[in-house]
Amino acid sequence: MSDKLSWITDELNALQAQGLSTTIRTIGSACGPWMVVDGKRVLNFCTNNYLGLANDPRLKAAAQKAVEEWGVGPAAVRSIAGTLELHRQFEQRMAAFKGVEDALYVQSGFCANQAAISPMVGKEDVIFTDRLNHASIIDGCRLSSAKIMIYEHCDAADAERVIKENIGNYRRGMLITDGVFSMDGDVAPLDKLYEVCERYGVITMVDDAHGEGVLGRGGRGIVDHFSLHGKFDLEIGTLSKAFGVVGGVIAGKKIVIDWIRQRARPFLFSSAVTPADTAACLAAVDLLEKSTELVDRLWENTKYFKAEMKRLGFDTGVSTTPITPVMLGEAPLAQQFSRKLFDDGVFAMAIGFPTVPKGKARIRVMVSASHSREDLDKGLEIFAKVGKELGVIA
Ligand SMILES: *Cc1c(COP(=O)(O)O)cnc(C)c1O
Repeated sequence: MSDKLSWITDELNALQAQGLSTTIRTIGSACGPWMVVDGKRVLNFCTNNYLGLANDPRLKAAAQKAVEEWGVGPAAVRSIAGTLELHRQFEQRMAAFKGVEDALYVQSGFCANQAAISPMVGKEDVIFTDRLNHASIIDGCRLSSAKIMIYEHCDAADAERVIKENIGNYRRGMLITDGVFSMDGDVAPLDKLYEVCERYGVITMVDDAHGEGVLGRGGRGIVDHFSLHGKFDLEIGTLSKAFGVVGGVIAGKKIVIDWIRQRARPFLFSSAVTPADTAACLAAVDLLEKSTELVDRLWENTKYFKAEMKRLGFDTGVSTTPITPVMLGEAPLAQQFSRKLFDDGVFAMAIGFPTVPKGKARIRVMVSASHSREDLDKGLEIFAKVGKELGVIA
C-alpha cells in the first residue's frame, strides 16, 4: 500500500530544489535594535517594530499590571463573556486617536480582514482589489464569496475602468486596498481611489497595517495622511507592527462597526485578546497621543538611512515609507546577500518570488525609531562591504 502522505515529501523536496523553502530563524532575545538570532547577536533590520515599542518598559508595566488585575486569559469569545472593560476602553481610545466613530478590536490584523469583509459583501456582490494586496485581504475576499476583480497596482484610473464596466452587474461593490504596500513601501493613492468610489457608490476599505503608527500626524495612519477623515467606510489596522504588541482593529463609521460586531466570525467564534495585550495596546495609544517623538525619530532614521544607501549606489526602489527595499534582481543573489550580511552581523531578509515578481528579488530593510545613529552607520558599513564583495555597488 502506498504511503498516503508521501506527496508531502515530494512537495517539500521540490521547494528545496527551487530554493523556495523557508528556513525559519529562532530569536533568542527581546525585540530591539540588536537581537540574538540563531544564537548570534546581530543588528536587527527585519522586524515591524517601527517605534521600538515591542520591548518598551511602559508597555511592559501596563501588561504586568493587567495580569495582576485581570488574570491571563479572557476565557470566552467577545460576544459571550469575553468583552472586558479594557477591550471597550481600547476601542474607544483607538477610535478617538484615528478620528472615527467606533472601532472593533480583534485578535490580529489577519483576523481583522477575515472579520470585516464577509459581513459587507456576499455572493451577489463584487470586490475591486489592488493587484498587490496582502494575503489576508485576498483570503478575506475569498471567504465572502463575492466576485473578485483586480485592478492594476495603485492605479485609480484602472480601478475606475474596472468599476465602470462591472458595477452594474452586481448588487453592491466594495474597493479594498492596502495603505502602504509591505514589499515596495509605496502608498496607495487613497484620495483618488476615494473620488472614484464616491462616483460609483462603491464601499471603501483600506488596510493600514504598515501605516498605523507611521503615517499621518503622530502616527494616526493613512486616512489622516490624506486628510480623508470620516470618508473611508472601513479602516483595518494592526497592533502587531508599530504598536509593538499584537491584535487587529476594524475602525470606521458606527453603523458599519455595529453591523460587523453582529456578523464577524473571528469576533464571534474565537476568544478575545488577552488583558495583558489589550493593556499594552492602551499604553501605546497613550504614548502616541502624548508625543510625536517616536514617530519623528522613525522618519529621521528612515531619511538618513535611505539617503546614505543611495549615496553608496544602492537602488532602494519606489518606497516613500520606512520600508526600504534594496533591489538586487535575481533571488539567488538576494539570498547570498542576506547570508553574508548575517555573517557580518546584520539581520535583513531576502525576499523573492512568489512574494515579489521574478527578477525583483530584494533585501527588505526595516529601520526603527530605536536604532541609534551608530547602529545605522554600522549597518551602512556592512551593506557597503557586502555590496562591493558581490559586485552590486562599485
Ligand atoms: C502584516 C499585515 C497584516 C497582518 O497583521 P497581523 O496583526 O500580523 O495579523 C494584515 N494586513 C497587512 C496589509 C499587513 O501588512
